[in-house]
Amino acid sequence: MRKVIIIGSGPAGYTAAIYAARANLSPLLIASSVEAGGELMNTTEVENFPGFPEGIMGPDLMTKMQEQAEKFGTEVVYDDVTAVDFSGDIKSITLGSGITHEAEAVVFATGSAPRKIGIEGESRLSGRGVSYCATCDGFFFREKAIAVVGGGDSAMEEATFLTKFASKVYVIHRRDELRASKIMQDRALANGKIEFVWNSEVVDILGDDAVSGVRLRNTVDGSESDLALEGVFVAIGYDPRTHLVHGVLDITEHGTIQVDGRTSRTSVPGIFAAGDVIDPTYRQAVTAAGSGTVAALDLEHYLAARGDAGAPAQDASEIQDLPTPA
Ligand code: NAP
Repeated sequence: MRKVIIIGSGPAGYTAAIYAARANLSPLLIASSVEAGGELMNTTEVENFPGFPEGIMGPDLMTKMQEQAEKFGTEVVYDDVTAVDFSGDIKSITLGSGITHEAEAVVFATGSAPRKIGIEGESRLSGRGVSYCATCDGFFFREKAIAVVGGGDSAMEEATFLTKFASKVYVIHRRDELRASKIMQDRALANGKIEFVWNSEVVDILGDDAVSGVRLRNTVDGSESDLALEGVFVAIGYDPRTHLVHGVLDITEHGTIQVDGRTSRTSVPGIFAAGDVIDPTYRQAVTAAGSGTVAALDLEHYLAARGDAGAPAQDASEIQDLPTPA
C-alpha cells in the first residue's frame, strides 16, 4: 500500500508530487496513457511561468516538472484510472491495466478537457477537419482556410499559431468583444492572416467526409450564412474532468470538485483535489502548481494527524489547520 497516490500529470499533479516526494512520502503518480503532461503538452510557448524570462515550450516545462518529481522519489505510471473506491479508510484506484493500487491519501488533479460546441457536425467530423489542438493538428492545414471558434486566450493563441500554416484564419466569436488578455488580443488583431467574424455562432459544421465549411448565425439579427473553409479549431474553454468522482465527491455548480475554503480538502477525508479540477476561474499553469502545493501540505497534515510516521516535520509550520471561510 502507498501513502499517497496522485492522479494527474499536469502542473498541479507534478507540484504535489515534488512536495510529497520531498516529504519522504514516495508518491505514485498516475499519468494518463495518452494525455500525460496535461494541457501544457498542447501548448506552444509559455511566456508567463515565473523563472523563464525567455519563455519555455509547454512540453519542455512538463518534462522538467516530471524530472524534478522523479528526482525526489516519485514513481510515475502511464495508465488511465478506470475506477476509484474512496469509501473506506484505505482508498483504492483501479487502472486500465486491471491493477489496483491502494493508498492512505489521494490527490485528485485530473485537470480539464476542451469544451465542445455540442453540434452534430462537430462529433461527426472530429479528426476530419474538426480539432481541439492547434499544435497537434495545425500542420495538416497548410495553405488552407480555417477557423478558430472562441474569444479567449486559447482562441487567440491557437489562431496566432495557426497562421504559420494556414492561408487564412477566421476567428469566429459570439460577441463583438474579446475575452482574451490584451497582449494576446493585440497580437491576433495585428496579424494580417487573421480575420475576425464578430457576433457569430457556429450552428453547423458542413461536409460529408471532411469539413467544407461552417454555418453561422448572427447573434444580433439571427441571420444565417455559410463560410467555406477546411478546418475548424474549437477553443471555447475547458470543462473539469470529474467523471470518475461523480456521486463520490461533492461537485460545485461550476462542475468543479468542492473543496473546503482555501484548502484542497474534498468532501471525503483523505481525498485532496488540486488544479483546474477545482478552479473555475484562474486556470493558469502557475495557479495549478500552487494548488498542487496546497494539496501536498494538506495531505502531509492529514497523514501526520493519523499518526503516520512517514509525514515528517518538513514545513510543519506551514501545514497548520487553515481557517475555513464561513
Ligand atoms: P475562456 O477564457 O473561458 O474563453 C472561452 C471563450 O469561448 C470565450 O470567449 C467564450 O465567449 C467562448 N465560448 C464559450 N462557450 C462557447 C460556446 N458554446 N460557443 C461559442 N463560444 C463559446 O477559455 P480559454 O480561452 O480556454 O482560457 C481559459 C483560461 O486559460 C483563461 O484563464 C486563460 O487566461 C488561460 N489561458 C492562458 C493562456 C496564456 O496566458 N498563454 C493561453 C490559453 C489559456 P464569451 O467571451 O462570450 O463568454
